[in-house]
Amino acid sequence: MNKKRVGIIGAGPSGLAQLRAFEAAKNEGHDGPEVVCFEKQSNWGEMWNYSWRTGVGQYGEPIHGSMYKYLWSNGPKECLEFSDYSFDEHFKKPISSYPPRPVLFDYIQGRIKKNNVRDYIRFDTTVRWVSFDEETQKFTVVLDNLKIDKTYSEEFDYLVVASGHFSTPNMPYFKGIEHFPGQVMHAHDFRGADQFKDLNLLIVGSSYSAEDIGVQCYKHGAKSVTLSYRSSPIGVAWPEGIKEVPLLTHFENDTAFFKDGTSEKYDAVVLCTGYQHKFPFLPDEMRLKTKNNLYPDHLYKGIFFNELPRLIYLGMQDQYYTFNMFDAQAWVSRDCIMGKYELPSKEERRLDINKWLAENEAHTSNEAHVDFQTAYIKELLSLSNYPNFNVEKVAEMFKEWLKDKEENILTYRDKSFKSVVTGTQAEIHHTEWMDELNDTKERYLYQEESEESLADKVKVSAI
Ligand code: FAD
Ligand code: NAP
Repeated sequence: MNKKRVGIIGAGPSGLAQLRAFEAAKNEGHDGPEVVCFEKQSNWGEMWNYSWRTGVGQYGEPIHGSMYKYLWSNGPKECLEFSDYSFDEHFKKPISSYPPRPVLFDYIQGRIKKNNVRDYIRFDTTVRWVSFDEETQKFTVVLDNLKIDKTYSEEFDYLVVASGHFSTPNMPYFKGIEHFPGQVMHAHDFRGADQFKDLNLLIVGSSYSAEDIGVQCYKHGAKSVTLSYRSSPIGVAWPEGIKEVPLLTHFENDTAFFKDGTSEKYDAVVLCTGYQHKFPFLPDEMRLKTKNNLYPDHLYKGIFFNELPRLIYLGMQDQYYTFNMFDAQAWVSRDCIMGKYELPSKEERRLDINKWLAENEAHTSNEAHVDFQTAYIKELLSLSNYPNFNVEKVAEMFKEWLKDKEENILTYRDKSFKSVVTGTQAEIHHTEWMDELNDTKERYLYQEESEESLADKVKVSAI
């Protein structure tokens, strides 16, 4: 009998979680389906695989990444730890709770390098279009091999969309912005704070990008940072040099006007106005249409597209939990594909979706949102054999993190948390975050080593 075929779109953390889930089943002695993952870039780990490029890449494809230099984890690493691959196993020593991007990228890669996951990925391959045949119950996926500029298509029984949703900018218009003389960019194109040194910077938005890009520019020497909010301010105790103001209404030349009647001159503007869920390779009836929120409609258990449950979406929620949530989702998705987890009827699925949607609507505070996503993770964990972890403890850490940020937005990354996977208490980092301008893995792991021994150690740590 022919093996089932599973196509995965994207080799970021979600797509890699799906590949890892199938490998885990194989290691447990189960014969899985044939799996192929398509990644339009030349390497895996997107978001975490920093690209200096903006606009388009080597082959003219839109740049996916919104990652920038000097980005440090904005939540404790203990809240995202894989429960089947700990930080201790990877780094062989305790590290701090808030590592920079290259260190997290290294960690993500460690787990998959242990398995032969790379063999399943076709890099430099863009998914152009997908269709579904009701009669054969198969997806046809049209692909472009970017390297040799060749179009071809393949058929699959299941399709996993793991293409991320923090890539296509939401770009609102503000009257007069076209005449603003300085630079105007979206957070998606922000690649580091260096260029804003000594400038007066206006940031629009009041979520994670606004907060982090604002603080980073302050840290790296911007003259002033103003954050302009639409619904509500971030509301932490800002240091002198950063302030929040109501929504921008319009520009007159280099002067920005705000809803409270105030105005000020700026040198540059960064729109931290979020992202669109965008699936240009899917026809309308298969597309997930949602805003960024903790429980997108139409997805049973947050993953199975209710109209067509062979179409599986991973990582489409707004995220407190990240890597461990993608894992928990990928394990359930795998079990469904392998026939170990049976889906209820469409009507029952709809009722379950409605229940989660109503609950999500009822919550407004950040703490309640953490509890909501915690309950969701617990539900996922009950449906597969992904190694259990103490989700309640993780929720407590998230709440402590929220408080830490409120108390001091410049020092919260100096705090230490305890792993729920190994019990290890995180190191206090060798340098306070505000004083650390170097985010390389070498500097992070081996601050005081000579150049030569540093090179040796880095070789050893590469798995
Ligand atoms: P992505 O990482 O976006 O990966 C999707 C992959 O799909 C990409 O490799 C892309 O190239 C590929 N792809 C897309 N379209 C196609 C196509 N048509 N054909 C083939 N391949 C395609 N999370 C944290 O836990 N901690 C943090 O500190 C943190 N910081 C963040 C900072 C920024 C600026 C952003 C934007 C996000 C951050 N996140 C953070 C959240 C982050 O989104 C997740 O950690 C994670 O990267 C999401 O993984 P993903 O695989 O779902 O999506
Ligand atoms: P987001 O959380 O979706 O927030 C979007 C923001 O844009 C909201 O504040 C929203 O305001 C605002 N907005 C949208 N349209 C607007 C308009 N027309 N006018 C004014 N404001 C508008 O997106 P994000 O902040 O880019 O975060 C995306 C992801 O990146 C998150 O997962 C985050 O964790 C991650 N991230 C992490 C780091 C890090 O430090 N590691 C840094 C950056 C980003 P309303 O509240 O009014 O809707």
